[in-house]
Amino acid sequence: MRCFKFVTLGCKLNQCESDELAGRLTEHTWRSCEPGEAADLVVVNTCTVTEKAAMQSRQAIRRAVRENPGAFVVVTGCHAETDAQAVLAIPGVGAVADRTAKVHLAEIVAQLGAPTHQGPFHFRGDGEISFPAPSKARDPFAGRTRAHFKIQDGCDAFCSYCIVPYARGPSRSRRAEEVLEGIRLLSGLGFREVVLTGVHIGRYGLDLSPPRSLSGLLRKILGLSLPLRIRLSSIEPLELTDEILDLTQEAYGRICPHFHIPLQSGDAGVLERMRRPYRPKDFARVVGAIHDRLPDVAIGADVLVGFPGETEAAFENTFRLIDGLPLSYLHVFPFSPRPGTAAFGFPERIAPEAIRARCERLRILGRQKRLSFHRRFLGREVEVLTETSRDPQSGLLRGISGNYLRVRFSGEDSWMNRFLRVRITGTGERLLEGKGVALQEGEPENALSQPGPPRKS
Ligand code: SF4
Repeated sequence: MRCFKFVTLGCKLNQCESDELAGRLTEHTWRSCEPGEAADLVVVNTCTVTEKAAMQSRQAIRRAVRENPGAFVVVTGCHAETDAQAVLAIPGVGAVADRTAKVHLAEIVAQLGAPTHQGPFHFRGDGEISFPAPSKARDPFAGRTRAHFKIQDGCDAFCSYCIVPYARGPSRSRRAEEVLEGIRLLSGLGFREVVLTGVHIGRYGLDLSPPRSLSGLLRKILGLSLPLRIRLSSIEPLELTDEILDLTQEAYGRICPHFHIPLQSGDAGVLERMRRPYRPKDFARVVGAIHDRLPDVAIGADVLVGFPGETEAAFENTFRLIDGLPLSYLHVFPFSPRPGTAAFGFPERIAPEAIRARCERLRILGRQKRLSFHRRFLGREVEVLTETSRDPQSGLLRGISGNYLRVRFSGEDSWMNRFLRVRITGTGERLLEGKGVALQEGEPENALSQPGPPRKS
């Protein structure tokens, strides 16, 4: 049986799509290569969110060609979408698949028969876009406790710095029935956490007929009463509605008290030029409301530094806003102009050394925020989902709490892929140390509590 490898760059959505494609390939007489085995097919799932990501995607393609002599190399993902000709020009590329064709990649490759060096081909899909469900034939996520599940793709927002709407097209949602079926299947495969992913999940359901909402979908998922918890991937500040917060409060622990919210800038003028639909005070209000209702919640934010026209004063506005908010961590990105976006032509570009210095200041602030968030849990119990592999350095078990604390602790293999109450005994910037106190069966309970007697061991 022929074997395949995946090389995936970029976001969780890409990882999710690669997992789904791998699952579908196994339904067409393919299998995943063993470590060190020569691949017959390599799929490179690319990213283009920044100029650097596009460059890294091209490097990964060249490496895939070089390291897999004789393999048929198919390139898909955002960089293949926005710059197909550049990708097709890379020697050794067998095919480029656009966003419509890639969901049918397994069938297309199957039709090609034996891997071939004819081409390169440019697979372009036609007709309705469909979303494959996770494969029943094989567990494409083998060895994991947490699965990513795509509920939505595409974006209509056209922020001035972002290539994604051009690369992925308009927002399209997966039908609720398909989502429920997929999540049931993942639960049956043993997953204990499902991360709902998409490009713009706050717009979930608005394109369906009749329109649906993310909170409605969450309610339906909770209605399945499965022994897993749900985490939301990144959600826009104005789309984190009261209904979603109500549900997170009602189903605390079954919906993870963890929100990742793109801020991008804390300066009103910069946000306007970014074409972001909120102002700093709106962001502060949303973060404050979440924190008031869910005090142990983890709130992360993306920040884009050095947007054209970001003066020192504008940057200080961003710094001050973040400094004053109860955020748990930051993801800091330097701005890089993407050809094809509106911001590519904006004047008043910021010098690279100024961008680097600003990024560094924010990263230091982000580390301080993470550490002080961690310290709040010292001596308390948290519920973690234990991973199926041990920490390679220490050999300890490791797990993640609903509010995104990464904890290491000693314990038996039989604790893997289970919900476990852990008392926090030490904190660091990245990791916390703990001691397992009680295993928990069935559905996750409240993710956090004060110390109490073990219920079951
Ligand atoms: S919301 Fe803005 S930044 Fe996010 S994918 Fe859409 S256009 Fe890009």
